[in-house]
Amino acid sequence: MRFATRAIHAGQDPDPRTGAVSVPIYMTSTYSQAVGKEGYEYSRTQNPTREALEANLAALEKGDHGLTFASGMAATSTVMTLLRKGDHVVVADDVYGGTHRLFRQIMEGYGLHFDFVDFTDMSQVKAAIQDDTRMLWTETPTNPLLKVVDLRALGRIGRRADLLTVVDSTFATPYLQRPLEHGVDIVVHSTTKYLGGHSDIIGGAVITSDEGAHARLRFSQNAMGAVPSPLDCFLVLRGVKTLPLRMDRHCANALDVARFLKHREEVSRVHYPGLEEHPQHRLARAQMRAFGGVVSFELHDETMAMPFLQALDLIILGESLGGVESLIEHPASMTHASIPREERESRGIGEGLIRFSVGCEDLEDLLEDLERGFEASG
Ligand SMILES: *Cc1c(COP(=O)(O)O)cnc(C)c1O
Repeated sequence: MRFATRAIHAGQDPDPRTGAVSVPIYMTSTYSQAVGKEGYEYSRTQNPTREALEANLAALEKGDHGLTFASGMAATSTVMTLLRKGDHVVVADDVYGGTHRLFRQIMEGYGLHFDFVDFTDMSQVKAAIQDDTRMLWTETPTNPLLKVVDLRALGRIGRRADLLTVVDSTFATPYLQRPLEHGVDIVVHSTTKYLGGHSDIIGGAVITSDEGAHARLRFSQNAMGAVPSPLDCFLVLRGVKTLPLRMDRHCANALDVARFLKHREEVSRVHYPGLEEHPQHRLARAQMRAFGGVVSFELHDETMAMPFLQALDLIILGESLGGVESLIEHPASMTHASIPREERESRGIGEGLIRFSVGCEDLEDLLEDLERGFEASG
């Protein structure tokens, strides 16, 4: 089966009992041990709606196993249980602010240690590997600067040094790129974003074909207990059915928005892998189907960032991304505020940076709104 067909059907055969075409929402905490015949015991451990979603996401990533969680951060936290006290992780320097916070402010307290380097330069990654390094962790495209990391090179370094490679592929979704096919071990998603797609749930997922890692993660999923509700699983399953349709629109709108922004005199720089001047444009072309729905840009006058955002009418000022509605935000004071200022600025997240999750609205309405913002604040 091809991608759009898998998105609609994988893990979702009609219900054997009733023929229901949509997967039933099994809102139950426990199962009668007298009646049940399929080994279901308790919903933290097994739930049929969750299993349908896990099978679906595994099929989309071309992985053998999927696990889902109560949030993207719950997925990330659970992946960290693969490590032991003293283990070292090399992390991309441009990751989601919450991932940075989890690693630095919680996991370091449990004896893990982290180095943050630029994964667009694999010599920096290799140089950061130590005797106790166990894992390489990156996003691609990264949040919020849309850097693109070479998945094949990452997988190769991981295999040679016997390290687990993990890619948070939230910005791309399996429609645009499949890291496991490039030799990466584990894929993480915040299903809150494009997979859910409608800004109505919080969720996460981990997909892998590594049997050993999967067995330990499955154990941790149950033992740590950060599982998603059956209703949320249903909503992600419903969202995923239209993932290819939505992503095509997000990507087309985002490319046009990036081109529009690059010609505005108020804008000093546009970060979008679909622009030819993007430093990893060729790599993005090679490993992605299209370039995603997020565009970041910098204003010449950083004091205009907030007035610009507040002058917008249609595009919603808010955290998060990946919904059908356009969302725009100011990383320095919102999604990435938990990173110390100096560290944030040294990574290029300045006060003039704006991150735009381009939605599925009519392009002309989005461009008119951006124009209104520039005029009202300029
Ligand atoms: C939002 C996000 C997360 C965290 O996911 P939650 O569902 O909010 O917990 C992790 N990684 C990336 C790239 C994200 O955008």
